Amino acid sequence: MGFFDLKATCANCNKEIGLNRFQIANKEWICPECFKKCGFNMTTPINKMSVSDIKYAISAQQKNAEKLIAFKPTKKFGAFIEFDENQKTWLIPDGFLGTKKNPKIYNYSDIVDFELLEDGESITKGGLGRAITGGLLFGGIGAVVGGITGGKRSKSICNSLKIKITVNDMRSPVVYINLLATATKKDSFTYKSIYKSAQEILSTLQLICNSPKVPEENSNVHPKSNADEILKFKNLLDQGIITQEEFDLKKKQLLGL
Ligand SMILES: [Zn+2]
Repeated sequence: MGFFDLKATCANCNKEIGLNRFQIANKEWICPECFKKCGFNMTTPINKMSVSDIKYAISAQQKNAEKLIAFKPTKKFGAFIEFDENQKTWLIPDGFLGTKKNPKIYNYSDIVDFELLEDGESITKGGLGRAITGGLLFGGIGAVVGGITGGKRSKSICNSLKIKITVNDMRSPVVYINLLATATKKDSFTYKSIYKSAQEILSTLQLICNSPKVPEENSNVHPKSNADEILKFKNLLDQGIITQEEFDLKKKQLLGL
């Protein structure tokens, strides 16, 4: 079919669609309803996505919406980030003033590392298997000047403050918490209170990275007992697979004789 055909079929739901449609890879189209279900933003390179990418995105959005219903925040930092400490999950609100449309729900174990960026410059870093470095080490705002950037931060205005979190997700490995996006004086109450939130968020993220990994679900399977092991070898002996000598040796080992 040509580009200007008035009619096309949605590659996902097979509905006939008019000119209000979105081109995906392989000269295929999807309808506005399917596009909406994908939860993409304007920068998603949808024209490079196949039908199976679209189907994956839609099912991921649906699963996430179910997780969102189950998400019960026990710790919130303004409109910036929320934690469900019982389920060990977190999210960054994606709507206006901290409302939630369908923000991605992450597990604690998804966090790889994180950093605080001021005007694009990294001032504090932390993450899995590392200590937190930079301003946060020294506490208060005054002491933060310097940090890991070496004392060059003499500007009195901050234009942007955000936390970048690297997560274990190949499709979207980086998420941002936008703390401040307009020019703000560093001696203002706004800056100070946002900076304080940033420190608290970074500390929380580091605590999560430092906490022992949640055991996998199958860890409650008891290790095989020695008696079970001996029976297994007795079986092998009876079947003539191992000799009496080998069996006696194994038995001694297992009983710690
Ligand atoms: Zn469709």
